[in-house]
Amino acid sequence: MTIRFTNTLGGAKADFVPIAPPKVGIYVCGPTVYDETHVGHARPAIVFDVLRRHLTWRGYDVLFVRNITDVDDKIINKSNELGVDSAVVAERFARRYDDAMRALGVLPPDVAPRASGHITEMIDLIASLIDGGHAYPGEGSVYYSVESFEGYGKLSGRGLDELANRERVEAAPGKRHGLDFALWKAAKPGEPWWPSPWGPGRPGWHIECSAMSVRYLGQPFDIHGGGADLIFPHHENEIAQSEAGVGKAFADIWLHNGHVNIGGEKMSKSLRNFVLVEDAVGEYGANVLRLFFCGAHYRSQMDYGADGLNEARAIWERFRAFLRVAPAGGEANDELLHDFGAAMDDDLNTPAALAALHALVAAGNRGEIDPAQARAAVVAGLGVLGVDTSTEEGAADIVGPLVELLLEQREDARKAKDFARADAIRDKLTDVGVQIEDSADGPRWYRA
Ligand SMILES: [Zn+2]
Repeated sequence: MTIRFTNTLGGAKADFVPIAPPKVGIYVCGPTVYDETHVGHARPAIVFDVLRRHLTWRGYDVLFVRNITDVDDKIINKSNELGVDSAVVAERFARRYDDAMRALGVLPPDVAPRASGHITEMIDLIASLIDGGHAYPGEGSVYYSVESFEGYGKLSGRGLDELANRERVEAAPGKRHGLDFALWKAAKPGEPWWPSPWGPGRPGWHIECSAMSVRYLGQPFDIHGGGADLIFPHHENEIAQSEAGVGKAFADIWLHNGHVNIGGEKMSKSLRNFVLVEDAVGEYGANVLRLFFCGAHYRSQMDYGADGLNEARAIWERFRAFLRVAPAGGEANDELLHDFGAAMDDDLNTPAALAALHALVAAGNRGEIDPAQARAAVVAGLGVLGVDTSTEEGAADIVGPLVELLLEQREDARKAKDFARADAIRDKLTDVGVQIEDSADGPRWYRA
Protein backbone atom coordinates (compact mmCIF):
# COMPACT_ATOMS: atom_id res chain seq x y z
CA MET A 1 0.00 0.00 0.00
CA THR A 2 1.51 3.25 -1.14
CA ILE A 3 -0.55 6.37 -1.03
CA ARG A 4 0.26 9.00 -3.62
CA PHE A 5 -0.84 12.61 -3.83
CA THR A 6 -0.48 15.34 -6.43
CA ASN A 7 1.23 18.08 -4.46
CA THR A 8 0.32 21.58 -5.66
CA LEU A 9 3.74 22.59 -4.31
CA GLY A 10 5.96 21.47 -7.18
CA GLY A 11 3.06 19.90 -9.09
CA ALA A 12 4.33 16.30 -9.00
CA LYS A 13 2.51 13.17 -7.90
CA ALA A 14 4.61 11.54 -5.19
CA ASP A 15 4.47 8.89 -2.47
CA PHE A 16 3.01 10.06 0.80
CA VAL A 17 5.57 9.85 3.60
CA PRO A 18 4.08 11.08 6.89
CA ILE A 19 6.40 13.07 9.17
CA ALA A 20 5.68 11.00 12.29
CA PRO A 21 3.62 7.93 11.31
CA PRO A 22 1.10 6.67 12.23
CA LYS A 23 0.17 10.27 13.03
CA VAL A 24 -0.96 12.49 10.18
CA GLY A 25 -1.75 16.18 10.66
CA ILE A 26 -4.19 17.85 8.28
CA TYR A 27 -5.15 21.51 8.20
CA VAL A 28 -7.99 22.70 5.98
CA CYS A 29 -9.00 26.34 5.61
CA GLY A 30 -12.49 26.65 7.02
CA PRO A 31 -15.22 29.18 6.36
CA THR A 32 -15.24 32.92 6.86
CA VAL A 33 -18.52 33.05 8.76
CA TYR A 34 -20.51 35.95 7.35
CA ASP A 35 -23.17 34.28 5.19
CA GLU A 36 -25.06 31.04 4.48
CA THR A 37 -23.25 27.83 3.48
CA HIS A 38 -23.60 26.96 -0.20
CA VAL A 39 -22.74 24.00 -2.38
CA GLY A 40 -19.39 25.60 -3.31
CA HIS A 41 -18.42 25.09 0.37
CA ALA A 42 -19.76 21.54 0.38
CA ARG A 43 -17.16 20.33 -2.09
CA PRO A 44 -13.94 21.04 -0.11
CA ALA A 45 -15.71 19.86 3.04
CA ILE A 46 -16.56 16.51 1.42
CA VAL A 47 -13.23 16.14 -0.42
CA PHE A 48 -11.17 16.57 2.76
CA ASP A 49 -13.63 14.51 4.82
CA VAL A 50 -13.08 11.66 2.33
CA LEU A 51 -9.30 12.19 2.59
CA ARG A 52 -9.51 11.97 6.37
CA ARG A 53 -11.74 8.87 6.30
CA HIS A 54 -9.46 7.17 3.79
CA LEU A 55 -6.28 7.78 5.80
CA THR A 56 -8.07 6.60 8.94
CA TRP A 57 -9.25 3.45 7.09
CA ARG A 58 -5.63 2.86 6.06
CA GLY A 59 -4.62 2.85 9.72
CA TYR A 60 -3.34 6.39 10.21
CA ASP A 61 -4.05 8.37 13.34
CA VAL A 62 -5.32 11.60 11.80
CA LEU A 63 -5.47 14.94 13.62
CA PHE A 64 -7.84 17.07 11.56
CA VAL A 65 -7.91 20.83 12.09
CA ARG A 66 -10.34 23.13 10.31
CA ASN A 67 -10.43 26.73 11.42
CA ILE A 68 -13.20 29.26 11.60
CA THR A 69 -12.31 32.73 10.36
CA ASP A 70 -14.35 34.91 12.69
CA VAL A 71 -12.28 38.10 12.32
CA ASP A 72 -12.43 39.47 8.77
CA ASP A 73 -13.48 42.46 6.66
CA LYS A 74 -16.49 40.58 5.27
CA ILE A 75 -17.82 39.89 8.76
CA ILE A 76 -17.34 43.52 9.76
CA ASN A 77 -19.20 44.67 6.62
CA LYS A 78 -22.05 42.30 7.38
CA SER A 79 -22.25 43.45 10.99
CA ASN A 80 -22.54 47.07 9.81
CA GLU A 81 -25.21 46.05 7.32
CA LEU A 82 -27.26 44.20 9.95
CA GLY A 83 -26.52 46.63 12.79
CA VAL A 84 -25.30 43.89 15.15
CA ASP A 85 -21.94 43.14 16.71
CA SER A 86 -19.53 41.23 14.45
CA ALA A 87 -19.33 38.48 17.10
CA VAL A 88 -23.09 37.93 16.64
CA VAL A 89 -22.65 37.59 12.87
CA ALA A 90 -19.76 35.14 13.31
CA GLU A 91 -21.60 33.02 15.86
CA ARG A 92 -24.79 32.84 13.79
CA PHE A 93 -23.10 31.74 10.58
CA ALA A 94 -20.58 29.44 12.29
CA ARG A 95 -23.54 27.54 13.71
CA ARG A 96 -25.22 27.46 10.29
CA TYR A 97 -22.00 26.07 8.81
CA ASP A 98 -21.87 23.33 11.44
CA ASP A 99 -25.51 22.46 10.70
CA ALA A 100 -24.70 22.18 6.98
CA MET A 101 -21.68 19.96 7.69
CA ARG A 102 -23.77 17.67 9.89
CA ALA A 103 -26.42 17.43 7.16
CA LEU A 104 -23.72 16.39 4.67
CA GLY A 105 -22.32 13.73 7.01
CA VAL A 106 -18.98 15.55 7.33
CA LEU A 107 -17.16 14.43 10.49
CA PRO A 108 -16.55 17.28 12.95
CA PRO A 109 -12.89 18.39 13.05
CA ASP A 110 -10.71 17.33 15.98
CA VAL A 111 -9.96 21.02 16.53
CA ALA A 112 -11.95 23.95 15.13
CA PRO A 113 -9.83 26.95 16.17
CA ARG A 114 -11.29 30.41 15.87
CA ALA A 115 -9.12 33.34 14.85
CA SER A 116 -10.44 35.47 17.73
CA GLY A 117 -9.02 32.95 20.21
CA HIS A 118 -5.49 32.98 18.77
CA ILE A 119 -4.57 36.66 18.56
CA THR A 120 -1.60 36.13 20.90
CA GLU A 121 -0.04 33.50 18.60
CA MET A 122 -0.56 35.82 15.62
CA ILE A 123 1.10 38.77 17.38
CA ASP A 124 4.07 36.53 18.31
CA LEU A 125 4.50 35.40 14.71
CA ILE A 126 4.25 38.98 13.40
CA ALA A 127 6.85 40.11 15.95
CA SER A 128 9.30 37.42 14.84
CA LEU A 129 8.73 38.39 11.19
CA ILE A 130 9.61 42.02 12.04
CA ASP A 131 12.70 40.85 13.99
CA GLY A 132 13.85 38.80 11.00
CA GLY A 133 13.43 41.68 8.55
CA HIS A 134 10.42 40.10 6.80
CA ALA A 135 7.82 42.61 7.94
CA TYR A 136 7.62 46.31 8.72
CA PRO A 137 5.16 48.57 10.55
CA GLY A 138 3.47 51.42 8.69
CA GLU A 139 0.73 53.80 9.87
CA GLY A 140 -0.40 51.48 12.70
CA SER A 141 -0.51 48.43 10.44
CA VAL A 142 2.18 45.82 9.77
CA TYR A 143 3.03 44.58 6.27
CA TYR A 144 4.82 41.51 5.04
CA SER A 145 7.69 42.28 2.68
CA VAL A 146 7.32 39.80 -0.21
CA GLU A 147 10.77 40.74 -1.55
CA SER A 148 12.33 39.52 1.71
CA PHE A 149 11.30 35.90 1.12
CA GLU A 150 13.12 34.09 -1.64
CA GLY A 151 10.47 31.41 -2.03
CA TYR A 152 7.63 33.83 -2.66
CA GLY A 153 5.54 32.49 -5.56
CA LYS A 154 6.66 28.86 -5.23
CA LEU A 155 3.17 27.48 -4.59
CA SER A 156 1.51 29.29 -7.48
CA GLY A 157 4.59 28.63 -9.61
CA ARG A 158 5.10 32.27 -10.56
CA GLY A 159 7.86 34.72 -9.83
CA LEU A 160 7.37 38.03 -8.06
CA ASP A 161 7.37 40.13 -11.24
CA GLU A 162 4.85 37.91 -12.99
CA LEU A 163 2.58 37.96 -9.95
CA ALA A 164 2.86 41.73 -9.65
CA ASN A 165 1.76 42.08 -13.28
CA ARG A 166 -1.07 39.54 -13.10
CA GLU A 167 -2.62 40.17 -9.73
CA ARG A 168 -4.69 43.05 -8.49
CA VAL A 169 -2.45 44.97 -6.14
CA GLU A 170 -3.80 47.41 -3.63
CA ALA A 171 -1.97 50.54 -2.64
CA ALA A 172 -2.12 51.48 1.04
CA PRO A 173 -0.42 54.16 3.09
CA GLY A 174 2.91 52.85 4.40
CA LYS A 175 3.11 49.90 2.00
CA ARG A 176 6.38 49.43 0.07
CA HIS A 177 5.67 46.82 -2.63
CA GLY A 178 2.33 46.28 -4.41
CA LEU A 179 2.16 42.62 -3.32
CA ASP A 180 3.08 43.33 0.31
CA PHE A 181 0.09 42.33 2.42
CA ALA A 182 -1.22 43.28 5.84
CA LEU A 183 -0.31 41.08 8.79
CA TRP A 184 -1.90 43.52 11.20
CA LYS A 185 -4.52 46.14 10.34
CA ALA A 186 -4.78 49.36 12.35
CA ALA A 187 -8.16 49.72 14.09
CA LYS A 188 -10.79 51.84 12.43
CA PRO A 189 -13.73 53.29 14.36
CA GLY A 190 -16.49 50.76 15.04
CA GLU A 191 -14.35 47.72 14.25
CA PRO A 192 -13.29 44.97 16.67
CA TRP A 193 -9.71 45.46 17.86
CA TRP A 194 -7.06 43.97 20.10
CA PRO A 195 -4.05 45.69 21.68
CA SER A 196 -0.68 45.01 20.06
CA PRO A 197 2.89 46.37 20.10
CA TRP A 198 1.92 48.36 16.96
CA GLY A 199 -1.23 49.83 18.41
CA PRO A 200 -4.86 48.64 18.50
CA GLY A 201 -5.95 46.60 15.48
CA ARG A 202 -6.77 43.17 14.17
CA PRO A 203 -4.95 40.43 12.26
CA GLY A 204 -5.01 39.97 8.49
CA TRP A 205 -6.67 36.83 7.16
CA HIS A 206 -3.49 35.03 6.05
CA ILE A 207 -1.66 35.25 9.39
CA GLU A 208 -4.67 33.63 11.08
CA CYS A 209 -4.16 30.30 9.28
CA SER A 210 -0.36 30.37 9.72
CA ALA A 211 -0.74 30.79 13.47
CA MET A 212 -3.65 28.38 14.02
CA SER A 213 -2.32 25.47 11.92
CA VAL A 214 1.07 25.40 13.61
CA ARG A 215 -0.45 25.88 17.07
CA TYR A 216 -2.16 22.45 16.81
CA LEU A 217 -0.06 20.53 14.27
CA GLY A 218 3.49 21.79 14.79
CA GLN A 219 5.79 22.84 11.97
CA PRO A 220 6.20 21.30 9.50
CA PHE A 221 2.97 19.31 9.34
CA ASP A 222 1.77 16.78 6.76
CA ILE A 223 -1.12 18.05 4.65
CA HIS A 224 -2.63 21.48 4.01
CA GLY A 225 -5.85 21.55 2.02
CA GLY A 226 -8.30 24.03 0.57
CA GLY A 227 -10.05 25.17 -2.58
CA ALA A 228 -7.95 26.01 -5.65
CA ASP A 229 -9.06 29.64 -5.37
CA LEU A 230 -7.00 29.88 -2.15
CA ILE A 231 -3.64 29.05 -3.80
CA PHE A 232 -2.96 32.73 -4.43
CA PRO A 233 -2.72 34.83 -2.43
CA HIS A 234 -3.91 33.04 0.72
CA HIS A 235 -1.78 29.90 0.72
CA GLU A 236 1.19 31.57 -0.93
CA ASN A 237 1.14 34.09 1.91
CA GLU A 238 0.72 31.43 4.59
CA ILE A 239 3.93 29.76 3.33
CA ALA A 240 5.79 33.08 3.21
CA GLN A 241 4.77 33.97 6.76
CA SER A 242 5.37 30.61 8.40
CA GLU A 243 8.61 29.70 6.66
CA ALA A 244 10.19 33.14 7.11
CA GLY A 245 8.85 33.52 10.66
CA VAL A 246 9.84 30.09 11.99
CA GLY A 247 12.76 29.22 9.69
CA LYS A 248 11.38 25.77 8.79
CA ALA A 249 9.27 24.26 6.02
CA PHE A 250 5.54 24.82 6.62
CA ALA A 251 3.41 21.97 5.18
CA ASP A 252 4.73 18.98 3.21
CA ILE A 253 1.79 18.45 0.89
CA TRP A 254 -0.69 20.92 -0.53
CA LEU A 255 -3.96 19.56 -1.88
CA HIS A 256 -6.49 21.74 -3.69
CA ASN A 257 -9.96 20.90 -4.92
CA GLY A 258 -11.39 22.35 -8.14
CA HIS A 259 -14.20 24.89 -8.33
CA VAL A 260 -17.89 24.13 -8.42
CA ASN A 261 -19.50 25.89 -11.37
CA ILE A 262 -23.14 26.55 -11.94
CA GLY A 263 -24.20 27.26 -15.50
CA GLY A 264 -20.49 27.55 -16.43
CA GLU A 265 -19.69 30.17 -13.77
CA LYS A 266 -17.97 29.68 -10.44
CA MET A 267 -20.50 29.36 -7.62
CA SER A 268 -19.80 32.17 -5.19
CA LYS A 269 -21.35 34.52 -2.73
CA SER A 270 -20.29 37.55 -4.71
CA LEU A 271 -21.95 36.29 -7.92
CA ARG A 272 -25.06 35.33 -5.93
CA ASN A 273 -25.55 32.24 -8.08
CA PHE A 274 -25.27 29.78 -5.22
CA VAL A 275 -27.42 26.87 -4.04
CA LEU A 276 -27.65 26.52 -0.26
CA VAL A 277 -26.47 23.24 1.24
CA GLU A 278 -29.72 22.83 3.17
CA ASP A 279 -31.74 23.12 -0.07
CA ALA A 280 -29.49 20.67 -1.92
CA VAL A 281 -29.68 18.16 0.94
CA GLY A 282 -33.46 18.62 1.10
CA GLU A 283 -33.81 17.89 -2.60
CA TYR A 284 -31.29 15.09 -3.11
CA GLY A 285 -30.17 13.83 0.30
CA ALA A 286 -26.60 13.79 1.59
CA ASN A 287 -25.70 10.42 0.04
CA VAL A 288 -26.59 11.56 -3.48
CA LEU A 289 -24.58 14.77 -3.00
CA ARG A 290 -21.56 12.83 -1.74
CA LEU A 291 -21.76 10.40 -4.66
CA PHE A 292 -22.10 13.39 -7.00
CA PHE A 293 -18.87 14.97 -5.69
CA CYS A 294 -17.08 11.60 -5.56
CA GLY A 295 -18.05 11.05 -9.20
CA ALA A 296 -15.36 13.56 -10.25
CA HIS A 297 -11.70 13.69 -9.27
CA TYR A 298 -11.21 16.28 -6.53
CA ARG A 299 -8.81 18.36 -8.63
CA SER A 300 -11.20 18.77 -11.56
CA GLN A 301 -13.80 21.50 -11.93
CA MET A 302 -17.42 20.38 -11.65
CA ASP A 303 -20.70 21.70 -12.89
CA TYR A 304 -23.51 21.57 -10.34
CA GLY A 305 -26.68 20.73 -12.24
CA ALA A 306 -29.64 18.38 -12.58
CA ASP A 307 -27.93 16.01 -15.04
CA GLY A 308 -25.04 15.13 -12.77
CA LEU A 309 -27.24 14.98 -9.67
CA ASN A 310 -29.80 12.69 -11.31
CA GLU A 311 -26.98 10.43 -12.40
CA ALA A 312 -25.72 10.36 -8.80
CA ARG A 313 -29.25 9.57 -7.63
CA ALA A 314 -29.43 6.61 -10.02
CA ILE A 315 -26.05 5.40 -8.68
CA TRP A 316 -27.29 5.60 -5.12
CA GLU A 317 -30.49 3.71 -6.03
CA ARG A 318 -28.38 0.95 -7.60
CA PHE A 319 -26.32 0.62 -4.40
CA ARG A 320 -29.46 0.72 -2.28
CA ALA A 321 -31.17 -1.99 -4.28
CA PHE A 322 -28.16 -4.24 -3.74
CA LEU A 323 -27.85 -3.41 -0.03
CA ARG A 324 -31.51 -4.24 0.46
CA VAL A 325 -31.43 -7.65 -1.13
CA ALA A 326 -27.93 -8.97 -0.46
CA PRO A 327 -27.75 -10.79 2.86
CA ALA A 328 -26.19 -9.00 5.82
CA GLY A 329 -23.64 -10.59 8.14
CA GLY A 330 -20.73 -11.04 5.71
CA GLU A 331 -17.23 -9.73 6.32
CA ALA A 332 -15.38 -7.31 4.07
CA ASN A 333 -12.02 -8.77 3.17
CA ASP A 334 -8.93 -7.05 1.82
CA GLU A 335 -9.02 -8.93 -1.45
CA LEU A 336 -12.52 -7.71 -2.34
CA LEU A 337 -11.55 -4.14 -1.44
CA HIS A 338 -8.22 -4.27 -3.27
CA ASP A 339 -9.30 -2.30 -6.35
CA PHE A 340 -11.26 0.21 -4.31
CA GLY A 341 -8.30 0.82 -1.98
CA ALA A 342 -5.80 1.05 -4.84
CA ALA A 343 -7.94 3.70 -6.55
CA MET A 344 -8.25 5.72 -3.35
CA ASP A 345 -4.51 5.43 -2.67
CA ASP A 346 -3.85 6.86 -6.13
CA ASP A 347 -4.41 10.55 -5.34
CA LEU A 348 -7.94 9.89 -4.04
CA ASN A 349 -9.29 8.65 -7.36
CA THR A 350 -12.91 8.47 -6.21
CA PRO A 351 -14.42 7.87 -9.69
CA ALA A 352 -12.28 4.72 -10.08
CA ALA A 353 -13.06 3.73 -6.49
CA LEU A 354 -16.80 3.97 -7.23
CA ALA A 355 -16.32 1.86 -10.35
CA ALA A 356 -14.66 -0.80 -8.17
CA LEU A 357 -17.69 -0.81 -5.85
CA HIS A 358 -20.05 -1.13 -8.84
CA ALA A 359 -18.05 -4.15 -9.99
CA LEU A 360 -18.58 -5.73 -6.55
CA VAL A 361 -22.33 -5.12 -6.80
CA ALA A 362 -22.45 -6.72 -10.25
CA ALA A 363 -20.39 -9.74 -9.16
CA GLY A 364 -22.51 -10.12 -6.00
CA ASN A 365 -25.74 -9.96 -8.00
CA ARG A 366 -24.50 -12.60 -10.42
CA GLY A 367 -23.37 -14.82 -7.57
CA GLU A 368 -19.74 -14.74 -8.78
CA ILE A 369 -18.74 -13.76 -5.28
CA ASP A 370 -20.59 -14.45 -2.07
CA PRO A 371 -23.30 -11.73 -1.95
CA ALA A 372 -22.91 -11.33 1.83
CA GLN A 373 -19.18 -10.67 1.47
CA ALA A 374 -19.78 -8.37 -1.49
CA ARG A 375 -22.34 -6.46 0.54
CA ALA A 376 -19.94 -6.04 3.46
CA ALA A 377 -17.21 -4.77 1.13
CA VAL A 378 -19.59 -2.30 -0.55
CA VAL A 379 -20.71 -1.00 2.87
CA ALA A 380 -17.07 -0.54 3.94
CA GLY A 381 -16.15 1.24 0.70
CA LEU A 382 -19.16 3.55 0.80
CA GLY A 383 -18.29 4.29 4.43
CA VAL A 384 -14.85 5.56 3.37
CA LEU A 385 -16.66 7.90 0.96
CA GLY A 386 -18.89 9.00 3.86
CA VAL A 387 -22.04 7.53 2.32
CA ASP A 388 -24.39 6.53 5.13
CA THR A 389 -25.73 3.02 4.54
CA SER A 390 -27.19 2.57 8.03
CA THR A 391 -30.73 3.23 6.76
CA GLU A 392 -30.41 0.20 4.48
CA GLU A 393 -29.15 -2.16 7.17
CA GLY A 394 -32.46 -3.45 8.44
CA ALA A 395 -33.93 -3.90 5.00
CA ALA A 396 -31.30 -6.42 3.98
CA ASP A 397 -32.10 -8.55 7.02
CA ILE A 398 -35.84 -8.56 6.42
CA VAL A 399 -36.47 -8.30 2.69
CA GLY A 400 -34.31 -11.22 1.61
CA PRO A 401 -35.84 -13.84 3.95
CA LEU A 402 -39.37 -12.60 3.17
CA VAL A 403 -38.86 -12.96 -0.56
CA GLU A 404 -37.39 -16.43 -0.02
CA LEU A 405 -40.43 -17.40 2.04
CA LEU A 406 -42.84 -16.27 -0.69
CA LEU A 407 -40.83 -18.11 -3.33
CA GLU A 408 -41.08 -21.31 -1.28
CA GLN A 409 -44.85 -20.86 -1.10
CA ARG A 410 -44.95 -20.30 -4.84
CA GLU A 411 -42.99 -23.52 -5.39
CA ASP A 412 -45.39 -25.40 -3.11
CA ALA A 413 -48.35 -24.02 -5.08
CA ARG A 414 -46.77 -25.11 -8.37
CA LYS A 415 -46.10 -28.60 -7.05
CA ALA A 416 -49.77 -28.77 -6.00
CA LYS A 417 -50.71 -27.59 -9.55
CA ASP A 418 -52.29 -24.47 -8.03
CA PHE A 419 -50.97 -22.26 -10.86
CA ALA A 420 -53.38 -19.41 -10.16
CA ARG A 421 -51.90 -19.01 -6.69
CA ALA A 422 -48.31 -19.37 -7.95
CA ASP A 423 -48.91 -16.65 -10.53
CA ALA A 424 -50.58 -14.39 -7.98
CA ILE A 425 -47.50 -14.59 -5.73
CA ARG A 426 -45.25 -13.83 -8.69
CA ASP A 427 -47.44 -10.85 -9.74
CA LYS A 428 -47.44 -9.43 -6.22
CA LEU A 429 -43.66 -9.65 -6.07
CA THR A 430 -43.37 -8.00 -9.50
CA ASP A 431 -45.63 -5.20 -8.27
CA VAL A 432 -43.22 -4.36 -5.45
CA GLY A 433 -40.21 -4.51 -7.79
CA VAL A 434 -38.95 -8.05 -7.24
CA GLN A 435 -38.27 -9.85 -10.53
CA ILE A 436 -38.21 -13.63 -10.63
CA GLU A 437 -36.35 -15.78 -13.12
CA ASP A 438 -36.99 -19.50 -13.18
CA SER A 439 -33.90 -21.58 -13.84
CA ALA A 440 -32.88 -25.23 -13.72
CA ASP A 441 -31.66 -24.66 -10.13
CA GLY A 442 -34.99 -23.15 -9.07
CA PRO A 443 -36.17 -19.53 -9.01
CA ARG A 444 -33.69 -16.60 -8.74
CA TRP A 445 -34.75 -13.13 -7.84
CA TYR A 446 -33.47 -9.62 -7.97
CA ARG A 447 -34.79 -6.12 -7.40
CA ALA A 448 -35.66 -4.34 -10.63
ZN1 LIG B 1 -6.59 29.57 5.49
